[in-house]
Amino acid sequence: MTPFQYSRASDVADAISQIAADPAAKFIAGGTNLIDLMKYDVEHPARLIDISRLPLKDVKETPDGGLLIGALVPNSDLAYHPLIQQRYPMLASAILAGASQQLRNMASTGGNLVQRTRCFYFYDAVTPCNKRAPGSGCSAISGINRINAILGTSEACIATHPSDMCVALAALEAKVHVAGPGGARVIAFADFHRLPGDTPERDTNLEPREIITAIELPPKGFHANYSYLKIRDRLSYAFALISVAAALELEGDTIKEARLALGGVAHKPWRDSAAEAALRGQRVGESAFAKAADLLLQGARGYGHNSFKIGLARRAILRTLSQAARGTPQSQSVKKIR
Ligand SMILES: Cc1cc2nc3c(=O)[nH]c(=O)nc-3n(C[C@H](O)[C@H](O)[C@H](O)COP(=O)(O)OP(=O)(O)OC[C@H]3O[C@@H](n4cnc5c(N)ncnc54)[C@H](O)[C@@H]3O)c2cc1C
Ligand code: SF4
Repeated sequence: MTPFQYSRASDVADAISQIAADPAAKFIAGGTNLIDLMKYDVEHPARLIDISRLPLKDVKETPDGGLLIGALVPNSDLAYHPLIQQRYPMLASAILAGASQQLRNMASTGGNLVQRTRCFYFYDAVTPCNKRAPGSGCSAISGINRINAILGTSEACIATHPSDMCVALAALEAKVHVAGPGGARVIAFADFHRLPGDTPERDTNLEPREIITAIELPPKGFHANYSYLKIRDRLSYAFALISVAAALELEGDTIKEARLALGGVAHKPWRDSAAEAALRGQRVGESAFAKAADLLLQGARGYGHNSFKIGLARRAILRTLSQAARGTPQSQSVKKIR
């Protein structure tokens, strides 16, 4: 047991001043990832600053017709929120594809973004891992890498970002509102998570003393033609081997606007603007979907155990785009409730 101190933040300003005063401290929200990491001897915060009671639990409409989601809205409340179900059902589907009901009740919106990779070696504190111990090496590249990345990898790290929710947020072009000692700023979702490069120890562009306060959704929710498909080793309670968020705006059977993001393939939710551009103006159908999939996967590289993911991703993209085009989304949970 590594001893740590515990304190509670009274408001956002207090949370920022507490973390600024103690660089070895960490925020704790739902605790569903951080506590596991402490038990596995991966994270050793000297202090836990409990932010779970901060008043960041509302979902509010924005003047431009979008939504502002407080960072402490629990994942289950968000998935079942009427405005999310009606206007952003792809986000609801993605959240409901993750974890279990009990975990989603605890997990916060902000914590979901900052959850760490599920790479087996990252959790095994006695093996080399550049993300956990920079400079020690990467055990996954020549090890058991079934769950690891095929896109955007580096010689230092081939980990994936494990979130489902973030894949939908990437496709929806969400924004992340953060606050720190220097004031507040807004980060485009595409710029929030990082590729590993030669600094895999940094997952995101959040500065160490910043707190996520909210996620903003733009007005466009693609509620008519969307699908979130998650492929995993078990039917529930498992992270994605591959997941695909696909959203289309159609005029007849012509694609006016397309969004395509993948999970389980990279260190961040993977969105490819060239693949989306290739879909625009095309008629829905296998030939357009296959071209987009091939473009998105052209730089993909397998590492042995995970090489099957390249073909799986291609098939998953085709299936998810077809479901989106037909207006028959994968998730039954959302359809029933609507
Ligand atoms: C068994 C299991 C299965 C799971 N399956 C899935 C799955 O299939 N799909 C999926 O997407 N997720 C899955 N999860 C992950 C789960 O969704 C995340 O653990 C959860 O979203 C993290 O939120 P939290 O509030 O519990 O974060 P915490 O554990 O409290 O914190 C996680 C990290 O985020 C930081 N943090 C938290 N809030 C903020 C904030 N507002 N600002 C800045 N930093 C912050 C903390 O300091 C910490 O570093 C699973 C988890 C478990 C344990
Ligand atoms: S892939 Fe990344 S997280 Fe996994 S062992 Fe290599 S450096 Fe560590």
